[in-house]
Amino acid sequence: MAYSVTLIPGDGIGPEVAEATKRCLEATGVAFNWTMGEAGEGAIAKHGSPLPESVLESIRKNKVALKGPITTPIGKGIRSVNVALRHALDLYACVRPAKLYEGAPAFHKNIDMVIVRENSEDLYAGIEYDDGTPEVKELIEWVKSKGGKTIRPDAAVSLKPISRTASKRIAKFAFEYAVKNNRKKVTAVHKANIMKYSDGLFLESAREVAAEYEGKIEFEDRLVDNMCMQLVQRPEAFDLLLLPNLYGDIISDLCAGLIGGLGMAPGANIGDGIALFEPVHGSAPKYAGQNKVNPVATILSGVLMLRYLGETAAADRLEKAVADIVKEGKFVTYDLKADRTAASVGTREMADAIIARVKKG
Ligand code: NAD
Repeated sequence: MAYSVTLIPGDGIGPEVAEATKRCLEATGVAFNWTMGEAGEGAIAKHGSPLPESVLESIRKNKVALKGPITTPIGKGIRSVNVALRHALDLYACVRPAKLYEGAPAFHKNIDMVIVRENSEDLYAGIEYDDGTPEVKELIEWVKSKGGKTIRPDAAVSLKPISRTASKRIAKFAFEYAVKNNRKKVTAVHKANIMKYSDGLFLESAREVAAEYEGKIEFEDRLVDNMCMQLVQRPEAFDLLLLPNLYGDIISDLCAGLIGGLGMAPGANIGDGIALFEPVHGSAPKYAGQNKVNPVATILSGVLMLRYLGETAAADRLEKAVADIVKEGKFVTYDLKADRTAASVGTREMADAIIARVKKG
């Protein structure tokens, strides 16, 4: 049987890492029917939208997608297609393993964590009012009339909604993930000392769910600033991190830095009966088309996809091939060299080495 999967190569370095991953997945012997999907700024001219309805329909039909990164212009232009996809498909749980493979450049040994990030609300909700608009003026007046707090008249305002529904849903997901994946401890990350209501609600929800798992899964919480320091000093002390959307985004990159860089950090966006797999990293436009960047983050996202599909043996084989090639350190991209000026191989060649290892078994 062939799995029907929607493949969105993305832009920037996306097409190169997506192609490398497609070849690695096919080398495992698992059969795929790929439906190609185009999204991002490049899709506007052809389809009239950065996120064409046909792409959403394809994912809804196939229930599984693999995606390369897509560029989001900074401060102006289109809103994030990546975030829009998560919202449109209600992919509410972002799961990002941060595992250190021997050979990857890192300050610590023994890192094996997983980040579970709430994907649907928080400052990522995209509810923003630009400075000088009638809406923001009205909002500023309203806030003043209700609480007496003053917002400067030339402010732009972004809203941070955090609901009990979404917080409990992600906390439940995290604890269930911990049980199924043999994780021992959940650490909820927040700033509830300052954002007493929004982050406070997130923490309260996590505590309520944690109580259902008492005796099975340990629970603790950390302020996000302290969490950053502790992750840098002793990442081995943490197992599963449960975070609201924005902290989850930032801590994901911090953890990527601990395991050898963004080239090593895979991810999955999961909803009820539907999942989209993509690396943590973005489109790194300065490296686009150079056959230079590390394909491993996307290949490991493919491994997560194989596990999701129940193809455990193929997933184990591909993950081991990646681990072997990284450990040997010969056919690896520049970012995995302790000395970045040392001889390295390109994206395609690293994928070739992984494929040869998968086939050798
Ligand atoms: P980025 O992740 O694209 O790159 C930051 C740096 O990390 C790169 O310059 C490079 O040094 C390194 N890097 C990233 N991927 C690598 C790889 N595979 N191998 C080796 N090194 C790698 O972050 P950015 O520059 O802040 O963002 C670029 C664009 O990507 C922005 O438009 C942003 O919105 C978008 N983005 C998209 C996604 C997504 O598609 N889910 C995620 C994050 C950022």
